[in-house]
Amino acid sequence: MTEFKSNFLREHNGRHQFHPMIHPLLSQANPPQIIVSGDGCYVTDLDGKRYVDGFGGLWNVNVGHNRREVKEAIIAQLDKIAYYSSFAGTTTAPSIELSAKLCAMAAEEDADKVLFSANGSDAVETALKFARQYWHLVGEPGRFKFISLKNGYHGVHFGGLSVNGSSYYRSSYEPLLPGCTQIDTPWTYRNPYTEDPEKLADMIATLLDREIYHQGPNTVAAFIAEPVQGAGGVIVPPASFWPKVREVCDKYGVLLISDEVVTGFGRSGAMFGARGWGVKPDIMCLAKGISAGYVPMGATVFNKRVASAWYKEVNPTGFIMHGYTATGHALGCAAALAALDIVEREDLPGNAAKQGKTLLEGLKPLEASSSIVGEVRGKGLMVGIDLVSDKAKRTPLDPANGIAERVAYYAREEGAIVRPAGSTIILSPPLVINEEEVAKLVNALRVAFVRNE
Ligand code: PLP
Repeated sequence: MTEFKSNFLREHNGRHQFHPMIHPLLSQANPPQIIVSGDGCYVTDLDGKRYVDGFGGLWNVNVGHNRREVKEAIIAQLDKIAYYSSFAGTTTAPSIELSAKLCAMAAEEDADKVLFSANGSDAVETALKFARQYWHLVGEPGRFKFISLKNGYHGVHFGGLSVNGSSYYRSSYEPLLPGCTQIDTPWTYRNPYTEDPEKLADMIATLLDREIYHQGPNTVAAFIAEPVQGAGGVIVPPASFWPKVREVCDKYGVLLISDEVVTGFGRSGAMFGARGWGVKPDIMCLAKGISAGYVPMGATVFNKRVASAWYKEVNPTGFIMHGYTATGHALGCAAALAALDIVEREDLPGNAAKQGKTLLEGLKPLEASSSIVGEVRGKGLMVGIDLVSDKAKRTPLDPANGIAERVAYYAREEGAIVRPAGSTIILSPPLVINEEEVAKLVNALRVAFVRNE
């Protein structure tokens, strides 16, 4: 990069863009790091310094950066056509191929239909709207409510925000959709009920049962949750929780929506997060890993139970008055086909399970060695380091004191990018990570916590 260009970038960085999830005065005062290139599990910044990408972009560059296969698929599609609409009686070849591929990949989940979009927030919005429309189609239009988990994250659109389980994200944008309630999350490390995971799973499933009953079962459209809560701090539920949730949903006929935006395509160590818990949801929200970040892409997958409601007769209620300009985007679909090919060929769910275990084991000793690490937890390549001000009481560190940011800064100086999120440090490296790269991440964090003491 010419010096002139570098100077231009430094001068304008943080000046004209609003950056997500930060106060603009803070990003202006401390402009973001400028990443200029990537390769596998590494990224390089404008100063030429190379880092292990401990966050995989934003939980999404699952196949690693700069993969030739994905780039070639995008170029090959660009040589044909970049975009054509899915509206107006037209479609494109890659979108047909990808819809068939996703239904085949989720055959175990009885997947039957897909609606494409461009982001995880779109995929969630689609799921919520289709859940409501489903109930109109099957003659129960009074079912419009949604139940979700505290601490859950489902993107930033009004629908996703209404089922979000944290006031931190919601409060500046309220009022949100009526009819959305959140129950406690099955968080073994931090809950007022019990230390026993199985009891906790039972209790939270009972809370769900009681909430559906309290709302009136014939008013509840769906329950939505992440198989492992990501942005909320990598909260792994007890193993029996999701099967119990499925039972409760079935008891009342409530649809189960699995928000797989992070967990889809291997991140939690199974192809889909809910599959890892032995559960078949009715609707799955997919994005991020679907195209590994090469082109924005989202998809919502419906099982036969849900999809069949649209196939009885042509009536005004069944028209799908929903969709995006980017629905079925040819480049996004081509990128996704290539990325998913790598996910399957290289068994990335298997690698996530294996390397995730090594990463977790490598970081676990921080619980003893650092005065501020309360718990290191995770599943597959989703790992959270929970920072506390009082270990015995498990009091979360006040995010306002900036300690998570400081530790992340030290880790960066040691050559690893990790994400400070409130009082948790989150790791979600590309799923192609190997032992050596895992060791670099572990080492950078060990040094960072020592420097912080
Ligand atoms: N759902 C979950 C579980 C997520 O983690 C995210 C983003 O991190 C979203 C939805 C929203 O995805 P996007 O940021 O692509 O809109």
